[in-house]
Amino acid sequence: MENMKSILIVDDDKLLSDSLKLVLAEEGYHAVVAHSGEAAVEAAKKEGFNVMVLDLMLPDMSGIELLRMFNKKYPETGFIICTGFASLPTAIEALKAAAYDYIIKPFNVDHFKLVIERCINKQELIANNKYLFERLEREKYKLEIILDVYNEIAAIYDLDDLADMVTGKAVQLLEAEKASLMLIDDESKELVLKSAKGLGKEKVSLRTKVGELISGWVAQQGEVLLVRDIDEDPRFRSYPKNKRYKTRSFISVPLKVEKKVIGVLNVTDKLSAAKIFNEEDIRYLSLIAYHTVAQIENIRLCERLASIAVTDPLTGMFNHRYFQEQISLEIMRSQRYGHTLSLIMFDIDHFKEINDKNGHLAGDRVLKQAANIMRDNIRHVDILCRYGGDEFVIILPNTDMEGSLVVAEKIRKTVEEQEIKIEEEGKEKSLKVTVSGGVAGYRDGLSKADFLNRVDATLYKSKVGGRNMVTGYK
Ligand code: GH3
Ligand code: MG
Repeated sequence: MENMKSILIVDDDKLLSDSLKLVLAEEGYHAVVAHSGEAAVEAAKKEGFNVMVLDLMLPDMSGIELLRMFNKKYPETGFIICTGFASLPTAIEALKAAAYDYIIKPFNVDHFKLVIERCINKQELIANNKYLFERLEREKYKLEIILDVYNEIAAIYDLDDLADMVTGKAVQLLEAEKASLMLIDDESKELVLKSAKGLGKEKVSLRTKVGELISGWVAQQGEVLLVRDIDEDPRFRSYPKNKRYKTRSFISVPLKVEKKVIGVLNVTDKLSAAKIFNEEDIRYLSLIAYHTVAQIENIRLCERLASIAVTDPLTGMFNHRYFQEQISLEIMRSQRYGHTLSLIMFDIDHFKEINDKNGHLAGDRVLKQAANIMRDNIRHVDILCRYGGDEFVIILPNTDMEGSLVVAEKIRKTVEEQEIKIEEEGKEKSLKVTVSGGVAGYRDGLSKADFLNRVDATLYKSKVGGRNMVTGYK
């Protein structure tokens, strides 16, 4: 019954219409007869017809008008006009009103069957074309979005902005309600939420361990996950109910650089009637993921390059060049806004000796450790730089000399107390080192060179004063 084609015969000639019905039934069609315009309207309300055969001479209304009305209401239906020879001009008019074909009474049954068959074939062709056209239109729309994504992605150099754009496009492309993007934090090895579309941030895990929950699972497996129905999927039998989404279908795509997973892109709650994601969705989302990964790599490379330019490779602190730039800026700020500003300079005591006795590698270890102690004892806004060799400088904005002296003294003391572990011929050994420090506060009008000379001079005082001490400029 499902695929049976249905035909409505509208003719007041009962004998003729009933015999046509029989002929059609024999051909495997489902045929319905209406003997008046009104009966035809009622019949069409009850069920849809692939073809309607209309007599132009109806007892209760004009056949042409009925055709026009039906044609408007049922655009998928094919129409065949049935007419006597005398009303052929009317039939031609009817053809213009979109009837597919006409037959002139009296007619031959074989001819009738042929016209019906041709009409059905044509209707199927039209329907098929319409479907293909709609599909092409949809594909075109989606490919346009993907093209947009390519172009937009390449212009974004901020990870959060990129994540927001990608989740926005993912929901649009997959006609879904929610999407989220998580990236693996290399230090903690956790997935960290970067962007969530359609989800309150409180509803998503901000951090997920690799291997845990769905995103963590995808990150661990490194493979696309398409779940049509989570309740039916044996992989999620023990998955916590409260962690499930509104609809039961979702897609998770790993973001991969070659074999390494760097994050996960999730899309949930498909809006279309079926509410189930399919292979086509995977294809689209994977395309987006591919380009997202490429841009994330770009951004990270740029960040690395930028940081190489300003950091000292041994200690990871800022380098001399960065110090020179920043001190100039801070002096300008201090002059403009009248903020206080000071500098601390440290130099490791007898560092040559440490190198000579324990080797250059141990010396490096000492430099790193001393730098870490300094970093751990200053504020976020303070700028710690390796000035060169075993010398470090710290810029302390909004801090006067007294304040900086306290900080410097704390660092000196911590270094003195800390044991530095080094390795010597495979054995662990601990070392003690000390630092000498000088502190100077900025005074309005002071040149950068003079400011640096002052702090250098105080450091020299600490050295000649016996080392392992901090001196302030007087
Ligand atoms: P003082 O107490 O007067 O400062 O004596 P010092 O021996 O520390 O003298 P100075 O500060 O002049 O010595 C700096 C030494 O640091 C000289 C150099 O060989 C060593 N050095 C510079 N850069 C590095 C480095 O990256 N690693 C190591 N291991 N040593 C370095
Ligand atoms: Mg030294």
